Amino acid sequence: MNEKTHLEDLAILGGMPAFAETLHVGRPNIGDRDVLFARINDLLDRRWFTNNGPYVQQLEQRVADLIGAKHCIAMCNATIALEIAIRALGLKGEVLIPSFTFVATAHSLQWQGITPVFCDIDPISHTIDPEQVERAITSRTSGIMGVHVWGRPCNVEALAEICGRHGLKLLFDAAHAFCCTHRGRMIGTFGDAEVFSFHATKFFNTFEGGAIVTESDEVADKARLMRNFGFAGHDNVVQLGTNGKMNEVSAAMGLTSLESLDDFIAVNHRNYQQYRKQLQNIPGVRFLNYDENEKCNYQYIVLEIDEKAIEIKRDRLLQILWDENVMARRYFHPGCHMMEPYRSDPLYTAVKLPATEKLTRQILVLPTGTSVEEAHINAVCSIVRLAIAHGRELDARLQSAEASAVMRSAQGHVAISGDA
Ligand SMILES: *Cc1c(COP(=O)(O)O)cnc(C)c1O
Repeated sequence: MNEKTHLEDLAILGGMPAFAETLHVGRPNIGDRDVLFARINDLLDRRWFTNNGPYVQQLEQRVADLIGAKHCIAMCNATIALEIAIRALGLKGEVLIPSFTFVATAHSLQWQGITPVFCDIDPISHTIDPEQVERAITSRTSGIMGVHVWGRPCNVEALAEICGRHGLKLLFDAAHAFCCTHRGRMIGTFGDAEVFSFHATKFFNTFEGGAIVTESDEVADKARLMRNFGFAGHDNVVQLGTNGKMNEVSAAMGLTSLESLDDFIAVNHRNYQQYRKQLQNIPGVRFLNYDENEKCNYQYIVLEIDEKAIEIKRDRLLQILWDENVMARRYFHPGCHMMEPYRSDPLYTAVKLPATEKLTRQILVLPTGTSVEEAHINAVCSIVRLAIAHGRELDARLQSAEASAVMRSAQGHVAISGDA
């Protein structure tokens, strides 16, 4: 993985790919294996694999302590945790959410017959714009679900103020924001409840997993019942529920990873600074900064590519990186409202979200995490810089190569049908 300095070095033009082993966004971080295996041995000896086992209880306690939250309810994943939080809060009718998010935010509502109403984002913070939220409130609105995109907090004060004035519930999809703060206070302590994801691609993972954190005893009690089919004791089902339980292997992974949490964050921070040093002063590229006065997990390295200011398209840059075995990602392209079932639903045909649509054409997320080292970052950045510096020439060469490929395949098609 040497740094690249000449166009001919690029794999897309016939050079050797920069990476023999593919670089991924969200490759799982792993804590101490021996400790993990010891825990798994223990749980096998105990033969207590799920149903609120001792590891799940420990994990809930440690996460609650870490966040400074009153309750943490561990779940099998964040999508089910969102669904349960939505029900525990009594949301119905319409709920206001951003479209610039992972599709689970919208699906968790739609799945239970609640209408997600998409609001535009603030183009600088990338989080839901409180002014748009206010305008979208109707008599059917029951709540707002903000998303702390990239771990950068929503405008929680403005959202809370709107909810207070209109009698709405406030839920946060905090899937990106474990261990992040807002004005010095840990995310997980805002709104009526917040939901973390511990999915394998998140910087802290339990293979699959998630959690609801809340200050409310009532919401916590309901969520615990809903997580376990509504069972309040043996043979005593007191309400509708589902199966949202986290298993003991996942909790063992979580407990082990918690012991390495500071290391994961330190590596992400180091990688972030290295990327920033190399990419922050390229005209037409906005490098997304994190507030150094806040705690942050630095799990996303985000570029905004302004196609008007530079002579290469974001998708071309993506293709160039993929050919080098750097699997950069276009989170959250094309936006939830452009995905099914929302896209074909007449309810959404008039939806116009200019800031979201612009941003989904600009974002490029680069690999980081404990499997990414300084030399990797230098090589990735050299490719990005090279491609941008020669954008126009690259585009011209690749377009003519694509045109002749189309010609060749068209001729092939004619020859085949001629034979018949
Ligand atoms: C990852 C993610 C989810 C879903 O989390 P799972 O644990 O995979 O269900 C929800 N919302 C956002 C913003 C996410 O990034």
